[in-house]
Amino acid sequence: MTRSTNEDMGRKLNPRIEGLAQSAIRAMTVECAKVGGINLAQGICDTPVPHVVADAVATAVADGFNTYARCEGVEDLRRVLAKKMRAGGLDYDAETEIVVTIGATGAFQIAATALLQPGDEVILFEPFYGYHVSTLTTLGLVPRFVPMAPSASGTWTINDNALERAVGPRTRAIVVNTPANPCGKVFSRGELTGIGKFAAEHDLWIFTDEVYEHFVYDGLEHVSPAAIEGLRERTVTMSSLSKTLSVTGWRLGWMAADARWARAFAQVNDLVYVCAPTPLQVAAACGLKKLGPDYYAGLARDHQRKRDQLCAALSEAGLSPHVPQGAYYVLADSSRLPGVTAMDRAMHLLRATGLATVPGNAFHTAGRGDNLLRFCFGKTDADMNEACLRLKRL
Ligand code: GLN
Repeated sequence: MTRSTNEDMGRKLNPRIEGLAQSAIRAMTVECAKVGGINLAQGICDTPVPHVVADAVATAVADGFNTYARCEGVEDLRRVLAKKMRAGGLDYDAETEIVVTIGATGAFQIAATALLQPGDEVILFEPFYGYHVSTLTTLGLVPRFVPMAPSASGTWTINDNALERAVGPRTRAIVVNTPANPCGKVFSRGELTGIGKFAAEHDLWIFTDEVYEHFVYDGLEHVSPAAIEGLRERTVTMSSLSKTLSVTGWRLGWMAADARWARAFAQVNDLVYVCAPTPLQVAAACGLKKLGPDYYAGLARDHQRKRDQLCAALSEAGLSPHVPQGAYYVLADSSRLPGVTAMDRAMHLLRATGLATVPGNAFHTAGRGDNLLRFCFGKTDADMNEACLRLKRL
């Protein structure tokens, strides 16, 4: 006999989880697989892993790095990360201020869990990365949105008044994702200084997600908020090796903050994950030591070329692109495609070309983003060439 919903009433999902649907990013990956399409939806990053990183995995396993690591991460990796951050103007102590996490997603979850309480409000810029929002809401936190507007030159701008409008007595943190997913905004030093001043005035944490730190174009500079004078103390700096080393499936990220907070982050990391995968941490440390500035410069150069190739194809297809300054996504105007919702248009494009994209409303509050699709260009040259050919034939 099947149980009726009524009989299950005593046992129900946590209401904070009820609204948690499969992300549109993943949904489009599933749709793409059904038709054997080219996945420009999920930022999978299926470009080759550098040999020095890939080759180090088998060695780490053979050398016996197969058991739990310390909850704050393998020491060698923390040292390498501290050195890498120093090159970006950040000074964190490897022993007491860095925690290796399960991707930046794990880091973000830990920061929110360790520092905020249900009912606290957190400011995010819109378009936003949906995982930031869902992480907050499932923890009982309340997102407040500051809309960004695309300017004629393609950059996305923030209105200072909008920040003031979003802040209230329960606001505790502001999220900065630079370079930003999905719009590719690279926050300038001036903008970050302004955000820092605002955060100081309202005594807010600054949660930064810098996973696209090496994907910055047109000679622009990636600025870490914590490198700006006076901001280190209130900032939790988060990043990941996923995109930098093309290892999105390894789930290796990290977070860095003043030692007073980092200790608690390590404890939460222990509680939920115990540690990030040990042999992968060892391999990443080994690989990172061998990769110099040329490698990072190459990432930016290659992806700038792919950005230009994709944007040209989108323009030709009548899907006018908002040319990104960084990260590896393009938001393009899809209003010429048939359909009412962004999902209709994404599905139309998938059926017509075999190209999967993410509907723009996934990055916006209700009623916005329906004319946008997000295209990922963190792809191999072969996939990019084929995808651009198909767009031009659209
Ligand atoms: N960050 C990637 C994206 O935006 C992957 C997200 C995911 O699969 N959760 O596509």
